[in-house]
Amino acid sequence: MAASLRVGFIGIGNMGWPMAANVAKAGFPLTVYDANPDAAKRFAEEHGCDAADSLAALGAAADIVVTMLPTGPIVREVMLDADGGGLASHLAKGAIVVDMSSSEPIGTRELGAALAEKGITLIDAPVSGGVPRAVDGSLAIMIGGDDEDAIEKAEPVLNAMGGRLFRTGGIGNGHAMKALNNYVAAAGFTAAAEAMIMGRKFGLDPATMIEIINNSTGRNFNTEIPIKDHVLTGTFATGFQLGLMAKDVKIAGDLGESIDIEAPLSRLVRDMWADALGAMGPTEDFTVAIKRWEAINK
Ligand code: NAD
Repeated sequence: MAASLRVGFIGIGNMGWPMAANVAKAGFPLTVYDANPDAAKRFAEEHGCDAADSLAALGAAADIVVTMLPTGPIVREVMLDADGGGLASHLAKGAIVVDMSSSEPIGTRELGAALAEKGITLIDAPVSGGVPRAVDGSLAIMIGGDDEDAIEKAEPVLNAMGGRLFRTGGIGNGHAMKALNNYVAAAGFTAAAEAMIMGRKFGLDPATMIEIINNSTGRNFNTEIPIKDHVLTGTFATGFQLGLMAKDVKIAGDLGESIDIEAPLSRLVRDMWADALGAMGPTEDFTVAIKRWEAINK
C-alpha cells in the first residue's frame, strides 16, 4: 500500500512547506526536519505529523526521504557529513532519497554514486511552478534516476506534490533539465527588463509595454506573471529568491562550459544575474534584479 511508505521531508521553506503539506494530505506517515527547528515544529503541529530533532531521528522514521534544500552542496552535506556521517549513516539499506532541490547535475551524479555504495538510491526530481503550484499540488516534476524500481516506488509521493511527472533519463538529468528551464525563464525576464528600461528612456510607458507584449509574440511566463504582478505593482514578492535564481543560471552557464558547448547567451545571463546578486543580496526576491539594471542606466 503506497501510503504506508514512511516519508521524511528535509527543508520546510517557501517550497518545502506546501509540498510537505500535500504529502501529509495524501495520507503518508510523515516526519519533517529543518535546520530551523521552530519551522519543523510549527509544521508538525499544523499538519498532525512528527518533527525530528536530529537527522538520526529522521533516518529512523523514513523509508523515503525528500530533500527541498537551497543548494546541491547543502544536500550533500546533509546526506554525507552533517552530525558526523550525515543522514546516510542513519538510513536503512534500500532507502530512497529524492532530491527535489535545484541542484548541480554533475554533483548529483557524484552524490548518487556515494549513496549507492551505502545501499541507498538517489533520484533527482526538481520542480517548476513556484509557490502557487507547490500549494495546489500541481508542480511540474522532472525525474532523473537509474533505478526503475525506486522511481516507481517514489511516484505516489511525487504525485501528491505534482501535476505532471516527466521522466528525463538517468541520474542528474532532472537537475540538468531544471537548470536549463530556469536559464530560459531568466533570459526571458532579462530581455523583458532590458526592453522596459530602453522603452522608458525612449518615452514608452512600461505598464503599457507589458500589456502590449502580453498580447504579442514577446510574451513569456515572466512578462505574464512576475513582471506584471510583482515588478509593475512594486510588490517584488514572488517567493523565489534572487540567490536561488542566480544559482540556477550559474548551473546552466557552468554546465555548458563543463561539457564544452559554445553557449554565450547562457554565460551572459549567468554573469548578469551574478552581478545583480552582488548588488542586491541573495534573500531579495529575484524580480529586484531589474532595479540593478535600472540603476546601471541612471
Ligand atoms: P527556502 O530558503 O525558502 O527553504 C530552504 C529550507 O531549507 C529552509 O527552511 C532552511 O531552514 C532549510 N535548510 C537550509 N539548510 C539546511 C540544512 N543544512 N539542514 C536542514 N534544513 C536546511 O528555499 P525554497 O524557495 O523553498 O527553495 C528550495 C529549493 O527549491 C531550492 O533549491 C530552489 O532553487 C528550488 N525551487 C524554488 C522555487 C521557488 O519558487 N521558491 C521554485 C522551484 C524550485
